[in-house]
Amino acid sequence: MADSHIHNKMSTSCKHVIDEGKPILLVTHDFDDTWQFLCGDNNHYDYQDARAVCAGCIFEKDPSLQGVETLDIGYGAVREKAGSKSWVLEELVPDDDED
Ligand SMILES: [Zn+2]
Ligand SMILES: [Zn+2]
Repeated sequence: MADSHIHNKMSTSCKHVIDEGKPILLVTHDFDDTWQFLCGDNNHYDYQDARAVCAGCIFEKDPSLQGVETLDIGYGAVREKAGSKSWVLEELVPDDDED
């Protein structure tokens, strides 16, 4: 199979997904063009919970994420359970550090 994506795009997941194998239930495409793939729990406190990942590899590994691969910058998507393609889109709120 052809290598169809660039592997150097740094994005963020969490230890629950990467280390513990939890499903990705929250995806965001942040304003700095990085992605976050999170388990959706509210228990992410600091960098120790974060894992650097390649967005392309994440999308490749989980076909049910295809529905959010085209998410615009500044949007996030949540779903209720693993494997679901019923993503609910939400607009992200920009950080308040701009002029
Ligand atoms: Zn990759
Ligand atoms: Zn998590």
